[in-house]
Amino acid sequence: MLENMPESVSVFEVGPRDGLQPEPEFIPTEKKIRLIDMLTDAGCRRIEVTSFVHPKWVPQMRDAREVCAGIRRGEGVVYNALVPNLKGLELAIDCGLKEVVTIMSTSESHNKKNLNMSCAESLREIEAINRAAAQNGVRVRSYIATVFGCPMEGEMPPEKALEVALALESFGAYEISLGDTTGMASPLSAYGVPKMIGARLKRAGLAAHFHRFFGLEHAHNLAAFQAGVRVFDGAAGGLGGCPYAPGAKGNCQTEVMVEMFHRMGVGTGIDLEKIREAGRFAQTLSTLIHQKC
Ligand code: MG
Repeated sequence: MLENMPESVSVFEVGPRDGLQPEPEFIPTEKKIRLIDMLTDAGCRRIEVTSFVHPKWVPQMRDAREVCAGIRRGEGVVYNALVPNLKGLELAIDCGLKEVVTIMSTSESHNKKNLNMSCAESLREIEAINRAAAQNGVRVRSYIATVFGCPMEGEMPPEKALEVALALESFGAYEISLGDTTGMASPLSAYGVPKMIGARLKRAGLAAHFHRFFGLEHAHNLAAFQAGVRVFDGAAGGLGGCPYAPGAKGNCQTEVMVEMFHRMGVGTGIDLEKIREAGRFAQTLSTLIHQKC
């Protein structure tokens, strides 16, 4: 029997960005827009729609501007984008976004490979993004990658994630998402790490970002839920991976996560049939999904 069950949790949909980003074939802009509109119609209230990253690094997201201009903006829905630097923030603001997302790893090797910066450099960049975002009335959500393990460095000490989380909170991030970049968590660490970090954060909320590993990701979500996490990241259709993390599987499949919570009597505000439909559509856009577990 679970204790202190909330009436609802919040689902953070990352499919259009984190899900589609590693796809090798360029996905037409109108299909990306259709996916985002389907997610809006399904009741998703927080959707990561694209990233403002240099097209040389992430060619799949080179239509960020067109995507932002083409989507139907649902009432009460927060659309946000990943920004790696101040230039990205500027573009996101220009596109009318009120929220941006930053990312860095706890692992030096992964951070270097993913962002071409040391962890210390990333922290300085993210601090600058937070400062400029606050001046423009834009909220910042922050990912920490490789929290539960790094494909290059192996096991990661949770103290490292705590240190980064406290820094991100001090910069002004309102929510910190703990990322299991390559599916290396166990239900025990999925419980223990957020519990430990959550006890130390004063203002920022925590989110869980698990990746598929033959279904274990749902056990991780349940463990994080028991540890007090109330925000869960997922990608409709289970799309995604990390181009710089060999073996990275797709994101936790939103429709399965929603079904799990609904069966427990915990609301998400999402229509199960419609999110399944969005998931099926997302899978038709992917060539990677067919190669993964
Ligand atoms: Mg992910």
